[in-house]
Amino acid sequence: MSASYPWPGGHRAGLCVTFDFDGESPLLWRRRNDPPGDVAELEQRRYGPRRGIHHVLGTLERTGVRATFFVPGHIAATYRSAVAEIHAAGHELALHGWCHEPPADLDAGGLRDTLTRASDLLADISGVRPAGYRSPSFRMSPDGFEVLAGLGLAYDSSVMGDDRPYRIGGLVEIPVDWATDDAVYYRCTGGTETRPPYGAGDLYDAWHAELTGAREAGTLVNLTMHPWLSGRPARVLGLRRLLEAARESGDVWIGTAGELAAHHRATAPGTAGVLDVPTDTLGWPL
Ligand SMILES: [Zn+2]
Repeated sequence: MSASYPWPGGHRAGLCVTFDFDGESPLLWRRRNDPPGDVAELEQRRYGPRRGIHHVLGTLERTGVRATFFVPGHIAATYRSAVAEIHAAGHELALHGWCHEPPADLDAGGLRDTLTRASDLLADISGVRPAGYRSPSFRMSPDGFEVLAGLGLAYDSSVMGDDRPYRIGGLVEIPVDWATDDAVYYRCTGGTETRPPYGAGDLYDAWHAELTGAREAGTLVNLTMHPWLSGRPARVLGLRRLLEAARESGDVWIGTAGELAAHHRATAPGTAGVLDVPTDTLGWPL
């Protein structure tokens, strides 16, 4: 039995609300060598930066929750005003590749170059240099953490080796979980993919159960959503109910991934040995 995690303000559990602002970038990268000759999925994905983001921002404003948005450089360049609006509303901007390239698709130099370019653009739009990264599709190359640390980033939020913040390769990891990724429930692009999306009420129930479990165990719920999926009207209503339930519980800390990473870096030394296993740059225990 490990010591309970020291959540800010003495709370029992943690909640990070995060969005991967992908739009069409994953499809553009995946089909870069064989464009499909069909614009339907491009349009489905463009719903995110065109409409979904506004429903999402309205929901966050209404619930008083500040979120983290992981933004590919290509999306920031294409939808600059939407990204500026996210920053102006008080949310955190963080890195998510240039055109949603999973780290394993690039060598170390390529990863460094795409993230430097994206970081420069986000800093130009917001005046703030991003402190964190989420890998596209939750993948990570063996040398990825070293590249991220070399860029001076404070945290990563791509892997799922714990259910509390932890250290990996000189970074703070804000762990994710497939069970709290909306793509698993809502992604339905037609074609040969026949599985219907979950209803918003079903996902509310599933994620409310995640929140209940975290409050019991003293762990983190790190919601990973996409405006092209979760930005639909019925779905933002479900999200609003969930955020209100988290608030009303009174024992859940809610904040950005960057805030949680800074908290972990500031407080974890006092609990070293329980929360932080020393590792080499790949994350292998020493
Ligand atoms: Zn993504």
